[in-house]
Amino acid sequence: MAEKTTREFTPFEMAELQFDQAARTLHLTENQIAMIKEPRRVTEVNLPVRMDDGSIRVFKGYRVQHSIARGPAKGGIRFHQSVTVDEVKALAFWMTYKCAVVGVPFGGGKGGVVVDPRELSNNELERLARRYFADLCDLFGPDKDVPAPDVNTNPQIMAWMLDTYSMHLKRFLPAVITGKPLEIYGSEGRKKATSRGLAICVQEMAKHMGIDLSKATVAIQGFGNVGSFAGEILEEMGAKIVAISDIDGGFYSKEGISMREAIEYTHKTLTKTLKGFEKTGKVKRYDEPMKLLEEDVDILIPAALEKQITEENADRIKAKMIAEGANGPTTPEADAILYKKGVHIIPDILCNAGGVTVSYLEWVQNRMGYYWTEERVNEDLERIMINAFNAVMAAAKEYKVKMRTAAFIVGIKRVTQAVETRGLYA
Ligand code: NAD
Repeated sequence: MAEKTTREFTPFEMAELQFDQAARTLHLTENQIAMIKEPRRVTEVNLPVRMDDGSIRVFKGYRVQHSIARGPAKGGIRFHQSVTVDEVKALAFWMTYKCAVVGVPFGGGKGGVVVDPRELSNNELERLARRYFADLCDLFGPDKDVPAPDVNTNPQIMAWMLDTYSMHLKRFLPAVITGKPLEIYGSEGRKKATSRGLAICVQEMAKHMGIDLSKATVAIQGFGNVGSFAGEILEEMGAKIVAISDIDGGFYSKEGISMREAIEYTHKTLTKTLKGFEKTGKVKRYDEPMKLLEEDVDILIPAALEKQITEENADRIKAKMIAEGANGPTTPEADAILYKKGVHIIPDILCNAGGVTVSYLEWVQNRMGYYWTEERVNEDLERIMINAFNAVMAAAKEYKVKMRTAAFIVGIKRVTQAVETRGLYA
């Protein structure tokens, strides 16, 4: 692996490298590594779906269960044209350690379907979602594997999946999936949970670095569920959002971009994007949206997809803090460059763990059949995120490593302890 340049690393190879750094620091034995590194189960399905014109298209789908050592597998389902089994394996791996870092009682899993949902009608999307869940029905269950939304999937899709599961089992088990709409027992606070968790981490890191958030500037790549609400919450905390981007372009304004206006704008467009946002006259459009990452800001939030910050652009990054909303946005070589430059990175498995934390609270409420207020949920989220942040910071100091390795150290220790306490059934 060592002779490859970073940009050739696949997401799972990136995950393995991150794991190896922490495993070396912890002096894990070969047996310990063998029990926790590779995914436990990888499932591939071909999903036939009838299109509106009567033709049949077959979509490739995956579900990876990386670990069930600390509880049922847990992780979202991604609909994207570039999904690969390698990417789903990496995302499932990150979920195992993310759940362990925040201490929620789950293992790690992830699902994906190779599809560009923009090419599908709403009815076709519903049929695809239902077929995915029906084909993999045996894998899922509140005590087995609990999915949630990820890129291009949303509460409505979770509702269709829950309905499909309930029809197959002839029982209503809302705890089989999280990120549901409130009407069918989603949790208050779930919609913005990933972003709120990220903002809490930014607040803690700002205290640590002596940055005054009310004077801080922010750039956000990706303006979907995570990016848009992260912008909104940080704006509420006093920060100024000066640059945002999505798949249709990047926009900036030195005076600051109103998050309410930007979010409302995306609601009005057909494709729910920022396309044409410059026509409001309030922002300028980047010729090259990737330049957003190099903007002269205090805080950079990658909240789109993997491998955006690479050895090619890492040197030009000016932000003092990077809060990883996306999973795997920074390649290992970029990580090393940024560490040397003294940039403080809040790693993905800590920074975006607010989503799975409130998914856990949703699952708990579903199992009790009793529902909490948003204040109660947000209080628990804040307590859990601050504890996790402090645990990672303490490990970084104790082992003299960067925050990413520290987060893996915290996660790996907890997973290893669970595996060893359970013992090997054979
Ligand atoms: P989403 O589909 O709601 O939003 C993704 C955004 O990224 C969209 O605005 C899209 O236009 C934009 N985008 C895609 N390609 C881009 C590109 N090349 N340049 C700029 N923008 C681009 O997805 P999301 O749920 O917000 O997830 C974003 C990231 O956060 C993913 O890495 C996901 O795995 C991670 N994440 C999500 C959650 C969650 O609760 N939704 C939790 C943890 C981590």
